[in-house]
Amino acid sequence: MTEDVRRVFRMDNEVLAFRFTATVSDRADRTPRERLTDTERLRMWLEAAGLDVADVSPTDLKDAVELREAIYRIGSAIAAGERPEPNDVRILNTIAAAGHAKVALDNERAGWHLTQTTPVGDALGVLATDAIRVLGGPDRGRIKNCEGPACAGLFLDTSRGANRRWCSMNTCGNKAKKSRITAS
Ligand SMILES: [Zn+2]
Repeated sequence: MTEDVRRVFRMDNEVLAFRFTATVSDRADRTPRERLTDTERLRMWLEAAGLDVADVSPTDLKDAVELREAIYRIGSAIAAGERPEPNDVRILNTIAAAGHAKVALDNERAGWHLTQTTPVGDALGVLATDAIRVLGGPDRGRIKNCEGPACAGLFLDTSRGANRRWCSMNTCGNKAKKSRITAS
């Protein structure tokens, strides 16, 4: 049985790599919620992100979680004005370098083509490359942790005044607004 991907994952982050880090929610809570609970969940998430793979092994899942947490820690360090841990940078660069995905124009849309030999490694390479682009890009000063209740998710604040506080207006922004209304 396949689950509805949008019920399981939050897919609304504009930055692909940060959307991937959102597969753990309530990061600032005492018990963060892991949504990549098994290999099928990772396959589902990749498919929803346009990175179709037929199979995910337990090792793939372990690599994916390792990459995800490295991205999250580097992004949070940058948001706090700190230097990322060299080991996290090493994980990110290694996974990016190992990928063999090619981008192609398919039906007027950009799509990823993965190899048949290492499709999951290629997909993780795409995510790592996207992370590098943002974490080391000209807008790196706009990387923030969400201020939503217990969220702490990463997002890129592209607002003109650079004053966005939530990873998404529809979820965390709304929750914060509602709690303000009930409090007053
Ligand atoms: Zn949030």
